[in-house]
Amino acid sequence: MRQHRDSKPRGLTRTSNPRKKKSPKTTGTELPSLPTSVHNAIGPIPVEYVGDLRTSGDEKAMGLWLPEERRIQIRTGLPSVLTWLTIKHEWIHAVLWHAGVKLPEETEERICDTLAAALVAEMRG
Ligand SMILES: [Zn+2]
Repeated sequence: MRQHRDSKPRGLTRTSNPRKKKSPKTTGTELPSLPTSVHNAIGPIPVEYVGDLRTSGDEKAMGLWLPEERRIQIRTGLPSVLTWLTIKHEWIHAVLWHAGVKLPEETEERICDTLAAALVAEMRG
């Protein structure tokens, strides 16, 4: 993670913090503002926000990782949580691509969805 609001060892305090345990995770208001770039080990990856985002095959898309341009595109107008899930999902595609990890498409999509959900849950505490 790039940003921490505090330096507490979260993993050790998480289950004993009743405030966090009870927070209703429905609004996403505690998520940070949307980034204009994300990072991996070799540097920043720009994130662009696009109104009617579509794949090269003209299908509607929530997010795209464009390896040739080393860029992520995210559809605008989504709820904050969904936007963050999509940013993390595309970021994981980017990380796997840069690492040379090649997986069957369905497997990679499931990995991206699963890890994105966990990362956003971690962000929300
Ligand atoms: Zn994907």
